[in-house]
Amino acid sequence: MHVWKFGGTSVGKPERMQSIRNLITEDDTRKIVVLSALSGSTNALLAIGESLKANNDADANAKIDALKAHYDTFIDELYKTSEGKAAGQAILDSEFSFIRSLTSIKPFTLKQEKELVAEGELLSTQIFQAYLVEEGITSVLLPALEFMRIDADNEPEIQYTEQKLAEMLPQHDDKQIIVTQGFICRNPRGEVDNLKRGGSDYTASLIGGAIRAEEIQIWTDIDGMHNNDPRIVKNTFPVRELTFDEAAELAYFGAKILHPSTITPARMFGVPVRLKNTMEPSAPGTLIADRTSSEVFKAIAAKDGITALYIHSTRMLNAYGFLRRIFEIFEKYKTPVDMIATSEVSVSVTIDNTERVQEITDELNTFCTLEEPDCDQTIICIVGNFSADNEGVALRVFNAMKNIPIRMVSYGGTESNLSLLVHGKYKADALNALNDGLFLANH
Ligand code: ADP
Ligand code: ASP
Ligand code: MG
Repeated sequence: MHVWKFGGTSVGKPERMQSIRNLITEDDTRKIVVLSALSGSTNALLAIGESLKANNDADANAKIDALKAHYDTFIDELYKTSEGKAAGQAILDSEFSFIRSLTSIKPFTLKQEKELVAEGELLSTQIFQAYLVEEGITSVLLPALEFMRIDADNEPEIQYTEQKLAEMLPQHDDKQIIVTQGFICRNPRGEVDNLKRGGSDYTASLIGGAIRAEEIQIWTDIDGMHNNDPRIVKNTFPVRELTFDEAAELAYFGAKILHPSTITPARMFGVPVRLKNTMEPSAPGTLIADRTSSEVFKAIAAKDGITALYIHSTRMLNAYGFLRRIFEIFEKYKTPVDMIATSEVSVSVTIDNTERVQEITDELNTFCTLEEPDCDQTIICIVGNFSADNEGVALRVFNAMKNIPIRMVSYGGTESNLSLLVHGKYKADALNALNDGLFLANH
């Protein structure tokens, strides 16, 4: 079985939904088809939520009317038959009456916001399923809220998904196509929740791992993982093959094509992930598996909004246990550390979640001295084959970066990653300089 995920732009127009219908029925592999919300819908729903939080009901209602009008046009163009159009209208009536009912709940809390934002995927999947019915395709819509769950730390419970799908899938053995929602799930209180922005990729990988799929395919609007961020750098090109580790680093460090955690479940169960372009289905895309090509430099990604903390030991040189004490504090406040640099008496770390930074620094201050943190930093992550006997890797990176101030360096954590910390204002310059220095010279 395959798991195929289609992102917002891939379902964002009626003609795109029509081409997805062709893509998923071209061969006879049984597929779970994971859909995102139509492009723009998640942002539009969050904007409605913002108006409701600000108690601006008139504004919220105007935004709901505009969104409803968008969906009216969409279904009018998508369905060809009067039965199809009626089925589409019934879906809109039901979901939009729920959306409108949220406007009367005061105060509008995070719980309601999560119910509201889930409507994007609830709408897209029902609209698509009704379209498959109109087209005479035997498919079923499996509600993600019945098998996707996160725990108290917001971590997906893949064993729960595995167990639930083992119960649910055999009931639909006669269906070649199983449609479900990306992004949405329930939390331990049974409420509607989600896997954070871009989370549909993660849903696809969690399902793929849970059912030990033959392959996970992520269909989007670009022909695979590019060697650099195409939104910032010109002359980027698709990378044909990546290992799980390489792809995980790129996703975690900001390659927007994949949700940061996408690779984890696929790697855990050894399920290959193929990135494909809905607009150009015959393009080979990127295959993420155990194999990789031999180039030294593979790709670069950047993660913004990073804070660097500079910690000095007040005690003495040669103190052991100092690092443990520091990292226990980050663990206690559930704050992941991304980069680390150490000297004899100091440790610099970076974090991207600053929610608990005050408590962390208060506790560190009891046995360390802290310098003023640096905010608005960017981690530039360079991925490739950097085995210890590959000489000259660092030289080429530093040469390319010769005009850009570097705040921290991490090299040797794995053989596939070299990370640099720069101020956010140098991000575009750094990505372009590295593209010129590491790729364009020999591509
Ligand atoms: P979807 O809606 O299908 O999930 P996204 O917008 O989340 O699509 O991801 C695809 C986008 O990711 C591309 O259009 C591209 O602009 C951006 N992107 C950022 N970095 C990369 C990269 N290294 N390779 C490919 N695309 C990237
Ligand atoms: N619709 C959600 C978002 O826009 C999830 C996704 O597209 O992956 O973030
Ligand atoms: Mg995405």
